[in-house]
Amino acid sequence: MNDHYLAFANSALGRALVEGLGLPRPPVLERYTAGQPAFSVGDCLIGMTAGGRLCEQAGHILAAQNQSVWILDQDPARTAISACELQAQTLHTESMEGTRLKTVVFDASGIATSADLQELHRFFHPIIRQIAECGRIVILGHIPEQLDSAARTAQRALEGFTRSLGKEIRKGATAQLIYVGNGAEKQMESSLRFFLSPKSAYVSGQVVRIYASNHLAAVDWRTPLAGKVALVTGASRGIGAAIAHTLARDGAHVICLDVPQAEKELRAVAEAVQGSAMMLNICDAKAPQQIAAQVMSQHQGLDIIVHNAGITRDKTLGRMNRDLWNMVIDVNLASEERINDALLAAGALRHNARIICVSSISGIAGNLGQTNYATSKAGVIGMVQSHAQAYAEQGITINAVAPGFIETAMTAAIPFAIREAGRRMNSMSQGGLPVDVAEAIAWFANPASGGLQGNVVRVCGQSLLGA
Ligand code: NAD
Repeated sequence: MNDHYLAFANSALGRALVEGLGLPRPPVLERYTAGQPAFSVGDCLIGMTAGGRLCEQAGHILAAQNQSVWILDQDPARTAISACELQAQTLHTESMEGTRLKTVVFDASGIATSADLQELHRFFHPIIRQIAECGRIVILGHIPEQLDSAARTAQRALEGFTRSLGKEIRKGATAQLIYVGNGAEKQMESSLRFFLSPKSAYVSGQVVRIYASNHLAAVDWRTPLAGKVALVTGASRGIGAAIAHTLARDGAHVICLDVPQAEKELRAVAEAVQGSAMMLNICDAKAPQQIAAQVMSQHQGLDIIVHNAGITRDKTLGRMNRDLWNMVIDVNLASEERINDALLAAGALRHNARIICVSSISGIAGNLGQTNYATSKAGVIGMVQSHAQAYAEQGITINAVAPGFIETAMTAAIPFAIREAGRRMNSMSQGGLPVDVAEAIAWFANPASGGLQGNVVRVCGQSLLGA
């Protein structure tokens, strides 16, 4: 589905007209193409508060990419990164005119009291107008639940700051908060690579928790999924097809699953990604055992399962019959529980495996005419949160993405006025693309993402719904 307004507003004629009329101009978002550098290209600023414990590790990650950095005058980051092989120059706040910062990393893990929160103002106030188009801001904090009450309060406050920052910076720029738990300092790289790159084009205002994990895999970052086997449900079109392409780009063998009626499209996707096709209705009584048996016999197990297949059957509750209710709960939620159980029972999920679910912001905010859908998608979040710890003990992670308005056949079916509202009511003033969801899934799937557990990350351009 094309967004004609976005294309028009960014054409030579349209730009002048839109600006003349004072209408919003949705920015053209930078997206990743294979072979690009790990981080968005441009000036990088790194900073920290006194007592921060994450800046040095972030410095090592940036140094490994030969990234040169700026540091504000008298910022404690200069001492923290002195052991990193980083070229650091001083940025003087009084002479920043013309500076455009593409990436900003701020270690706020040292914030331990509400008085310390003034550090956010000290660091961000002078630089906030210098953020480049499609710039990336990452704030690093400490998981609040692991701290005493004063520090917990102060760290929790970072959420409100980050989400507001995301709404203020505009021009396709994004801001995220990564809480890094005790012992998880070395698990940050996959998340920094995602959030400081064009791969996170449509993700903003998100809060992620990284826990200590024994699974710190060495990764070839060009093909992080080489040798991995992934199963993607609902892969014949839309978001599922994009996930199949993205996981295959990262080196995985992808088993593409969809209903038998979609065989032609499914085979085309499977062929394009040099994967395999599995025609199956995930709600069939025997489907979970069939999937487990097939992945065991053909691939000796699975590394990644992406529960993407989903349906809508929208009606207000008074008009919704029981079949429509049951069908949506079964496809979007119950079948996923059954498949996970069958895969675990068969021992079909390998060491350091990933379960990644596709929820929806409807499951967070609720939506008129979607009681069945929102129930199912909120249930998916419940499934992720309730299993995260037990799965972690088995060396398996479970996380979810919650897309907002993504341009697919599903959203093309929405009436025009509601569709336009869905597209514009977010910090990016546009819908996302299937690849935006797929990139977030590839980040969770990465073998180096073993510390990401029980997270629900919205891919919604910071939609106002449920924010
Ligand atoms: P889509 O309708 O284009 O694709 C869904 C795919 O799932 C189809 O190929 C369909 O055949 C398959 N499928 C449905 N029932 C199945 C079953 N019983 N067994 C096997 N396959 C089945 O939808 P999409 O827009 O690509 O959405 C993909 C996922 O993202 C869904 O879970 C959806 O709820 C979620 N989502 C989408 C949006 C959006 O804006 N498009 C927003 C939030 C969440």
